[in-house]
Amino acid sequence: MISYRIWVPSTQSYLRMYEINCEQYRDILKTVEDSDNFNYYTNKLLKENIADQYNLSKDGFTPTLIDKFIIMLQLKAYSCNTNLSLTRECSKCGTKTDFVIDLNILIDTLAPVVDRSFKKTITVGSYSVVCDIPSINLNPNAEVFTDDQKLNRYLYSFISDISLSDSKLLLPTRSDDEKFRICQSLPYNITYAVKTQFVDYIHNIFKELLFFKTKCNDKKCNDELEIKFDVLNIDDIVKILFRDSNNTNMLQQYASVSNHCHFDYNFYKNICPAELETLYNMITESTKTDNQEQNTNQDIDLFQQYRSQTQGMVESDSEFK
Ligand SMILES: [Zn+2]
Repeated sequence: MISYRIWVPSTQSYLRMYEINCEQYRDILKTVEDSDNFNYYTNKLLKENIADQYNLSKDGFTPTLIDKFIIMLQLKAYSCNTNLSLTRECSKCGTKTDFVIDLNILIDTLAPVVDRSFKKTITVGSYSVVCDIPSINLNPNAEVFTDDQKLNRYLYSFISDISLSDSKLLLPTRSDDEKFRICQSLPYNITYAVKTQFVDYIHNIFKELLFFKTKCNDKKCNDELEIKFDVLNIDDIVKILFRDSNNTNMLQQYASVSNHCHFDYNFYKNICPAELETLYNMITESTKTDNQEQNTNQDIDLFQQYRSQTQGMVESDSEFK
């Protein structure tokens, strides 16, 4: 399988990752309407697609949510296409506006803000709390939690490790629930410091970060349509990448290609959406030429053609003559 060097903001280094293949893309499309499954599936994909010989996960690398977005953005550009075609419905007049985002320009726009590690250590008394963008392993918004729990879990999701005097608590190696209990037992002035010195600061950085801006298609309305980069809902932004109308017809392309070429199923599983699209375009092109040829041949006498094809063959007498 083809792999690429993918830039990871939090580690400020490259990670070798496999492209997204058609089977994975199909599964992403299947889960895109269901947030919980989408998060689960895309996180699983991130880990599976790290190329083995460069596996950083064994050294404790867990992508943050921002890493996830930037990695998925690059994988999308390499495996599918660099243009993202989206349709946005105007909230004022209901007109649908189509627009195209160039992913390379998007990377350049986001880079000055997101291309860095956000890790910061906050010290209060004998406690040292390491804060960072939440890792992909945490899902503070899961349906199983009450609203109060969600609020706390959200705050704690920014705590990546704690040490008390000289002993480290090593949060990354603990389960979600264990981590929650440890954070819950922290003195109030510590969680308050985490909120004011880190979480609020992160919210401020991303508050006005614009992902894309365009105007409503309806000339009379001309309302501004914006997509903001919301650090609280990164998975929603990741979803936008895959709602691309260039690729949502992937299943139709697959059906058309497999109708014309009898490749092994594994062949389709392992190629990437960009390759499937190339195949699809080639087939559409060649069937178009076939049809044109058939149209120009319409006046030819088929019996004449048959005779010329069977020249030299001896006609046998029919039993029914
Ligand atoms: Zn409008």
